[in-house]
Amino acid sequence: MGKKSLAVIGAGMAGIGAARVLADAGFRVVVFDKSRGLGGRCATKRWEGHSVDHGAQYFTMRDAEFAHTVRSACGGDLLEIQAPIVDEVGRELPSAGRFFHAKGNNRLARALAEGLDVRTGVAIEAVENRRVGEEEFDFILSTAPWPQTAKLAGISSVQNPYAPCLAGLFLYEGGRLGLSATRYAVSDRSGQALAWSACENHKPGRVGEGFTVMIAHASEPFSRARLEDDPACWVEDLRVLVEERWEIPSSAFRAMHPHRWRYARISQKMEIPSLPDGWHFAGDLLGESRVESAWLAGLEAARRILAGA
Ligand SMILES: Cc1cc2nc3c(=O)[nH]c(=O)nc-3n(C[C@H](O)[C@H](O)[C@H](O)COP(=O)(O)OP(=O)(O)OC[C@H]3O[C@@H](n4cnc5c(N)ncnc54)[C@H](O)[C@@H]3O)c2cc1C
Repeated sequence: MGKKSLAVIGAGMAGIGAARVLADAGFRVVVFDKSRGLGGRCATKRWEGHSVDHGAQYFTMRDAEFAHTVRSACGGDLLEIQAPIVDEVGRELPSAGRFFHAKGNNRLARALAEGLDVRTGVAIEAVENRRVGEEEFDFILSTAPWPQTAKLAGISSVQNPYAPCLAGLFLYEGGRLGLSATRYAVSDRSGQALAWSACENHKPGRVGEGFTVMIAHASEPFSRARLEDDPACWVEDLRVLVEERWEIPSSAFRAMHPHRWRYARISQKMEIPSLPDGWHFAGDLLGESRVESAWLAGLEAARRILAGA
């Protein structure tokens, strides 16, 4: 019997997690991603000479298998955030180990994908009879957010269970300005416009000497209300909020960059309808909106495929 084959759509944590298990089990595995790099929402941007995580800020390692895999793949590049995260009134939030990759969180996926056949810059527009481009596969695993997966699988009446998130990157002249000297992030759950703001300087090596880089994530109501607006307008609003919250003088401001996450986090759970023969779906939607959870969902899908192969 020949090798079984699998096409994975999406080189985020779920796709890479699944691809690794099935490649190790002897499958011919090809991973396709429409982006130039790996990692999906576990994303890092090289910006103004600094490396900024504009998607997942850090990852947890509560699951022993995930922790072991990440430690083996990242070695000395696996670091832990030391400074506190506080809430909107300045109370320190409990920490259960918040990890990051020294060179950018997208490097986590890259490290885990070592040796896999990953083809980036390839947007899968259609899959017919498990044919992707010129190649035919025994199995298709889509890890693209559900609305995109449903479209590819030809399933209509699509639900969108994700909330968007508008993100802003802000550059200031001067090292660790304002309150960023003593805290890593503020997590505001009160529903105000600014849900998350953090200082990237707390990840050693990411920000050049003499600068402060802040990252902001808008709340779900703000992100939904402003999703289709001109980014130049909402990123300016986020800038003002960041400077107020962190007591950073606007005279130190140098540059900003908006990023729109259309499918950022799960806002409602849903039952996944049955998929065409040979198709599978994985992603954070099957668990929680966390890097670790997406990887575990990929593993789970791989084991389902193995069981049915
Ligand atoms: C702003 C933000 C902040 C977050 N903060 C944290 C955090 O601090 N800690 C944490 O643990 N988690 C955080 N998360 C959640 C975490 O990033 C996600 O849960 C996780 O990365 C999802 O992984 P995934 O593999 O399921 O999906 P994705 O990472 O979305 O991967 C799907 C991939 O599919 C690709 N794709 C889609 N359509 C196609 C197509 N047609 N053809 C080819 N490729 C396609 C995409 O390019 C993408 O790379 C955050 C997410 C966001 C957006």
